Amino acid sequence: MKIDGFRGQLITADHAEYDTARTVWNGAVDRRPRLIARCGGTADVAAAVRFARCHDLEIAVRGGGHNVAGTAVCDDGIVIDLSAMRAVWADPAGRTARVQGGALWGDVDHETQAHGLATTGGIVGHTGVAGLTLGGGIGFLMRKHGLTIDNLLAAEVVTAEGEILRASADEHPDLFWALRGGGGNFGVVASFRFALHPVGPTVMAGPLFWAAGDTVDVLRFYRDFISEAPDELGTVIRLGTVPPLPVIPEDLHWRPAIAVACCYAGAVEDGERAVRALRRFGSPLVDLLAPMPYAVFQGGFDDTVLHGWHYYWKATDLTGLSDDAIAVIADHAYAATSARSYSAMFHLGGAVARIPRDATAYAARDVAHNIIIDAVWLPDESGDHAATESAWARGFLKALQPHRAGSVYVNLLDSDDTARVREAYGDHTYQRLAEIKAKYDPDNTFHHNKNIRPS
Ligand SMILES: Cc1cc2nc3c(=O)[nH]c(=O)nc-3n(C[C@H](O)[C@H](O)[C@H](O)COP(=O)(O)OP(=O)(O)OC[C@H]3O[C@@H](n4cnc5c(N)ncnc54)[C@H](O)[C@@H]3O)c2cc1C
Repeated sequence: MKIDGFRGQLITADHAEYDTARTVWNGAVDRRPRLIARCGGTADVAAAVRFARCHDLEIAVRGGGHNVAGTAVCDDGIVIDLSAMRAVWADPAGRTARVQGGALWGDVDHETQAHGLATTGGIVGHTGVAGLTLGGGIGFLMRKHGLTIDNLLAAEVVTAEGEILRASADEHPDLFWALRGGGGNFGVVASFRFALHPVGPTVMAGPLFWAAGDTVDVLRFYRDFISEAPDELGTVIRLGTVPPLPVIPEDLHWRPAIAVACCYAGAVEDGERAVRALRRFGSPLVDLLAPMPYAVFQGGFDDTVLHGWHYYWKATDLTGLSDDAIAVIADHAYAATSARSYSAMFHLGGAVARIPRDATAYAARDVAHNIIIDAVWLPDESGDHAATESAWARGFLKALQPHRAGSVYVNLLDSDDTARVREAYGDHTYQRLAEIKAKYDPDNTFHHNKNIRPS
């Protein structure tokens, strides 16, 4: 097998690395592509796209390989694999970073924090920059610095024709708009340029855990606490069991618990003040909030969601944290069978909500809370666990029906959620995306994703 103009690695079923190369983060995904084209740079990406078009091959595009639906890999077709393109070049003087399309957030935090800089990224270091950014990008810094896409300055894109374009506010602005939330529908992004901001490197951050029995009280307190919180304070709730991390006392491991993870993107002393009331609330099982390097904090959750475990997600935006919504959450959050299953809720708002709704393709700017119900089981538990854990996630989502905002973050949709893509955008944004899709990818070449059909 040969691709004209391609210098990367070509991996077919007879290659020793084939089984590793077709694996994605979600171990429940098991697809067998005909060819994996592991690109070394932008020219390889363009050559691979042209080859796929010419041979009428189904295309999957792989960034970090983290999408729960496993869209980074397809059966029979070609995977345009950017996993070897992980370089990050920080420019501290210009406060920007250029990031290749296969980089992970841990790569970005590592390089940018060397200069005391950061941009809004995901909360798990092994998540891919590309897929996360193209869907919007939520994380601890977003209330202060906006979504990841709000920090995107430019992207180098390989189109469905194999052409290399630069999209920015001044070049192909329609494409630039669509890339900021519209997912992998418009081309393969070979590199991104992001704005950076001073963050840390030492920040006040960490999680606090309370016993599961305290969930209603903690969530009611949390609701009031964050209503007054400064934009610098990013928080994520985690409901499940205490993960068996070395930093947590062993006798607490696997105990049902609610955690509030905090990160204050400002001076440590201000952060200490901002979290004081939370730390004093009730009787936490353990308080791990402390001044720590931002990059260390960002990697702190990596081992709680390992590659190869089996995952099934359900997600929705919420209208708010009413007493009723809290009661539903407390009722369902701990009813999973597997101790690894959990749910998480991000607190949005702040800078996210200050950007006009139509400035980018991320439509749900006014939503302050979402929930991800994450069913997890181990590969050798697949049988009944797959059914029971997935049923738990679906039942939890159903119970939340009265509290759903009518929108969902596109990056959280699983493979059985394809009918919900419109819900992620709303009619107006979806229509505009479909028109831009018709201009840049009229044949829907890039459809192995949360697809927007050209119109
Ligand atoms: C453990 C975990 C933690 C997460 N935490 C967060 C979080 O904190 N914040 C958040 O916003 N999201 C989070 N997510 C969701 C995440 O945004 C999505 O899973 C996202 O798709 C991951 O991107 P990826 O590049 O790793 O995915 P991949 O599976 O590689 O790609 C997903 C899709 O993105 C498109 N794509 C990928 N690379 C490119 C490219 N270079 N050019 C064009 N299209 C491309 C393709 O359509 C592909 O099918 C998390 C996911 C996981 C599994």
